[in-house]
Order: sequence, then C-alpha cells, then structure tokens
Amino acid sequence: MQILHTIPAVRAARQDAQGSLGLVPTMGYLHAGHMALVRAARAANDHCWATVFVNSLQFGQNEDFNTYPRDLPRDLALFEEAGVDAVFVPEAETMYTADFSTYVDVAELTDRLEGAARPGHFRGVTTVVCKLLNIVQPHRVYLGRKDAQQLRVIRRMVRDLNIPTTIVPVETVREPDGLACSSRNVRLEPHERQAASVLYQALQAAQQRYTAGERNADTLRAAMHAILAPEPLLNVEYVSIADDESLEELTTIEGPALASLAVRIGATRLIDALEFGGDCTSTR
Ligand code: AMP
Repeated sequence: MQILHTIPAVRAARQDAQGSLGLVPTMGYLHAGHMALVRAARAANDHCWATVFVNSLQFGQNEDFNTYPRDLPRDLALFEEAGVDAVFVPEAETMYTADFSTYVDVAELTDRLEGAARPGHFRGVTTVVCKLLNIVQPHRVYLGRKDAQQLRVIRRMVRDLNIPTTIVPVETVREPDGLACSSRNVRLEPHERQAASVLYQALQAAQQRYTAGERNADTLRAAMHAILAPEPLLNVEYVSIADDESLEELTTIEGPALASLAVRIGATRLIDALEFGGDCTSTR
C-alpha cells in the first residue's frame, strides 16, 4: 500500500493507476462503517484509494477539532489489511496554504439541519471534498448514508460543478444495539454509550409508523421525540422529517423522505438518519 503525503506524489501514483479508481475520503480513526466503504470501493473498481485528513475547515470554533480522535498508524494498518492500494495523508499546509482563499458553497441545501446547527460546516466539507476530487480524480467516491445531508450536499456539488465522478452511497453500519458506528462513539462514557441506543430506536419508531401508513410528518417527529425525551442524558438538537432531496421539513410525506436527528450526550454530538420511501439501493 502506498502512503502518499504530497500532491505531486498523488499525481504520479494516479498516472500509474490504470483502470477505474474508487475513493474513500475519511477523517480517520477508522471503524466498521469506513471499512464497508472500502469493501464497496474495492468490489467495483480496479483501484481503491482512501484519504485521511481531519479537515479543520469543517469544524466550528467551539467544536472538537483538537480533540477529534486520531490514530494514523492503526488507520494505515486497517486500510492495508482491507486491500486499499494507496492512502493520501496530507498535512494541513498541503491542503491550505497560508494564502488559501477559494471556497465551495452549496446554497440552500446547507441552510438546514446540520448546516443550521453548524454554520460554515458544509463550506468546509465541500471545499475539502472538491479539492480531494481534483487531486485524486477518482471515477467513483464512496460516502456513508449516516451523514445523510453531507451525501446530498456533495452529490449536488458534483452535479452543479460537473465534477467527473460518480457518488456511491453506502448503507450505515451499526453496532449490535443499532447505534451507528462513528469515530466519536469512543468518547462516550459507558452510561452515555448505553443511552445512545435511543437514536436508532427513535428513527425506527418513525419508520414503523411510516411503514404502517402514517404520512403526517408531525406524528412521525412526535414518535421520535417520545423515544428520546425519557432519556435524561440526551440533549436533542433537532428531529427532522424532510423531503429527501431538498431537505425541507415536510407537513405530509408524499415522496421519498429523510428522517434525521442530532443529539448531544455529554460533550459528544451524534447524528443519524434513515430514508423512507426511496429506493435505498439507488445511487440517486
Ligand atoms: P468520517 O471519517 O466520519 O468523515 O467519515 C468518512 C466517511 O465514512 C463518510 O462518507 C461517512 O458518511 C462514512 N461513515 C461514517 N460512519 C459510517 C457508518 N456507520 N456507516 C457507513 N458509513 C459511515
């Protein structure tokens, strides 16, 4: 496995990589969710590359950039074991020179949900992902459905800016109790970790109502709140039933919809999402 630190090194290795290339962008501290993206990328491409970069630009001033978990040697060993061909691990200065001044902004879609809760977050995400796509030039990019708004925002950027790559969504990998795997889960104290299982239970409660025919979005939001509210360790930031594409909050569900939520448990912020009524296997 090649470990690439500079953009010229990536360009040279990329020239040598004939055939299709699938990219898995990450912030490292790998878990089973990341590895599912790697498996999907490996299965469908001649080459599987990954990136590890904790992108300061997507963290707010009071967010956890400094304490974000990091373990590069472990990440590299896991990637190697999983058959990744090359990993791009840039330094911050490689991605952002001192006079860096160009940003990518996806409008409207980023005003809601995570965008509203974390001003500037998606600008950081789209800017770094656009750069990574320009640097690596993959045929396909593998993104997790857990970060549902991120997936939609990047898909919109790729479409709007005609970036020649295909976005491939990958199903959320969960712990046995349903909690979505996340690098931030390690920060949960044991009692917080136990409480965190209500996130998926809340999404499932909404899904059960939806499957039973309920289409009133307030009723589904209430079903999620009813599961979250009794858990005293939880601080609910938002609970959403939104249009799957525009992410506008719905009154009545008439097409594909996205149930999503964000909560704080102690110092840790967790998000999760489930899609209703769409074709989960599509690459829409
Ligand atoms: P991160 O390292 O958290 O920036 O995540 C890198 C990629 O892994 C993103 O596309 C995430 O959506 C994806 N991802 C994170 N958690 C999961 C999970 N539990 N299941 C599937 N994909 C995930």
